[in-house]
Amino acid sequence: MDLDRPRRIILIEDDANFISILKYHLTSAGFEVEGITSDEAINPGAGQFRPDLVICDLVMPVPGMDILATIKSNPRFRQIPFIFVSASKDHQDKISAYLSGADDYLEKPLHFPELIAKITGMFKRLDVIQQDIYRDPMTNLYNRRFLDQELPRQLSFHQRHDQKMIIGILDIDHFKFVNDTYGHQVGDIILENFAKVILETVRASDYVIRYGGEEIVVLFINSEMQGSKATLERLLEQLANNPLHTIADNQNNTPIYISFSAGLAEFPIQGENGDQLLKEADKALYEAKTSGRNQVRIAPNP
Ligand code: GH3
Ligand code: MG
Ligand code: MG
Ligand code: MG
Repeated sequence: MDLDRPRRIILIEDDANFISILKYHLTSAGFEVEGITSDEAINPGAGQFRPDLVICDLVMPVPGMDILATIKSNPRFRQIPFIFVSASKDHQDKISAYLSGADDYLEKPLHFPELIAKITGMFKRLDVIQQDIYRDPMTNLYNRRFLDQELPRQLSFHQRHDQKMIIGILDIDHFKFVNDTYGHQVGDIILENFAKVILETVRASDYVIRYGGEEIVVLFINSEMQGSKATLERLLEQLANNPLHTIADNQNNTPIYISFSAGLAEFPIQGENGDQLLKEADKALYEAKTSGRNQVRIAPNP
């Protein structure tokens, strides 16, 4: 789940013509849209599409209320906002819909600009919530909760497409020394700047996660070992030549340099699930630490 990607909407409606009109309007507004008719198996999110919003017809051969119940009973999908559209103006229909968990109920014919404004507002609220849930406020990197959700998804995606993924754990060297010498606030600034240079170094499609205090996990998406290792070694070189922070005193400036140690593991050969891969990467990180720090180590092949 890339939080910056276009939002995805799934349309469930038995009228194919209505789907194509609605799809046209929503796509023009910048959303990714998938339309399904009620004849098809309905399990939104089961495929790769993973919707951020469901728009569903109420009256269909498979009743919209049944679809709502299916979604709300599934822990993976029940938080996805759900909007009913229906020609029915019946208050009892609306009451049942809201009580069953629908977020909104719009009467047909739809006023498209109003619908798009409503959806845009919903997604803005969702952005704020997801920002709080999945990002670390200090570095703005993804957090561990995000990793727990995204890693299994990424692994199954890579498996399906027969791609490799490299997982790296980075740990700043002697960071306690930085805190003890310059103070915790300076340590914080350095962590924030470290996060920035990592983001500048890896690919936009890679994921950077604050795993622990000064431990960062990088998911190198659709990548291979030597390239990922080279990327981190370039980062080490850059850090050796550029201070992450400079303390300006009256008399002199004190540049602060840091290095890190890192361990890398490759999916699928060094682990078939997230826990295994993290464990292997962590062992390699330990090797890097005990071999003198400021280096990148690869987990041994099984
Ligand atoms: P090593 O090379 O073995 O990794 O040495 P280290 O000093 O970095 O040791 P370790 O990884 O065990 O300690 C991590 C330190 O990072 C301890 C903690 O004070 C500091 N730290 C963790 N999170 C934060 C943070 O958010 N801000 C600051 N300023 N320091 C942090
Ligand atoms: Mg209908
Ligand atoms: Mg540590
Ligand atoms: Mg450390």
